[in-house]
Amino acid sequence: MTFILPHIEQLSTYVLGEHPPDGSSVLKLNQNESPYPPAQLVLETLRTIGEESIRRYPDTACGELRAALSHRHNVKEEQVFCGNGSSEIISLIIKVFVGPGRCIAIPDPSFSLYHSVAASYQAASIRIPLRDDYTIDTDLLIRSEADVLVLVNPNAPTGRLLPLVEVEQIVSQFRGLVVIDEAYMDFATPGSSALPLAQRYENVLILRTFSKAYALCGARVGYCIARKQLISALEKGKDIYNINAISQRLAEAALRAQTYTDRTIAATKLTRDAFSAELEQLEFEVLPSHTNFVLCTPPSGPEKYTARELYQELIKRNIYVRHFEHPRLSDKLRISIGTDEEMRLVTTALSELLN
Ligand SMILES: *Cc1c(COP(=O)(O)O)cnc(C)c1O
Repeated sequence: MTFILPHIEQLSTYVLGEHPPDGSSVLKLNQNESPYPPAQLVLETLRTIGEESIRRYPDTACGELRAALSHRHNVKEEQVFCGNGSSEIISLIIKVFVGPGRCIAIPDPSFSLYHSVAASYQAASIRIPLRDDYTIDTDLLIRSEADVLVLVNPNAPTGRLLPLVEVEQIVSQFRGLVVIDEAYMDFATPGSSALPLAQRYENVLILRTFSKAYALCGARVGYCIARKQLISALEKGKDIYNINAISQRLAEAALRAQTYTDRTIAATKLTRDAFSAELEQLEFEVLPSHTNFVLCTPPSGPEKYTARELYQELIKRNIYVRHFEHPRLSDKLRISIGTDEEMRLVTTALSELLN
């Protein structure tokens, strides 16, 4: 006798990058976390949180954080929705806009969480193959029969950016909702965000997170921006106290310290470009990255390690990167960008392994 719904029983557990125990001295470059601490103001806020913040229920509407976000992005407060990480908003999007028997389309490979979340709501997902150069086939996406399109831009784990003109083509030609997951947009060429489209098109929903550029993975805060009607629908579907009081305050403090974050973003981009050049010196093929990670193909040959073997050899040297079994990724490694010093350890290890 099972108590479990069949579609849940059939789900496979979502595969994450390995999580070495806290405090272990490993180089963790497998979840695209920031190598830099959160802003000083965030840490001070954390230290001065009073007992009341824990005793009282949090603000269900996330009022102050929403006001700060509406100010930052120059949209109305009723166009902003905050979630317990953008992962929660992904679930809500499927719950509220897709549902059982309907379907999403998403380029493949992309962020695979969308497939498992869709399946957990008995929704289908159509995979739209990337072109040979790992760019997105916009025509195929537009012509899909899906109810909702999902575009991760810049894409993960490829790091490639779809130019805003092409995003607008999709948005203007597809009749259904288009979700644009901009988790990595802070690391892309400025002016690439689809945020302006959320003002002009009623079928656009932009997803952002405090996890990557703001170094707040553990606090779990994400948000989305869209027309008011879409935001109201998410509010109806959400858990009543979805973001705890502490995380609301930390995210708000992070926004006040924007100049600090801008500096860490600039540093990450410089390190990324220098590291990509180093990898090319080692005869890796590197996709041009607009994110805080690179997807790269190690040189192949009879005497050479495969990508999977390299991944395992790096773990032996206490360096954790990401390897995917997906047929279009299995010959590659995804390496998050740490500090310059950390990336030097990676290039040193790789050049020892390759020679
Ligand atoms: C990391 C990531 C997220 C999830 O971020 P959280 O806000 O931490 O839940 C969403 N989308 C993509 C593409 C990501 O890489």
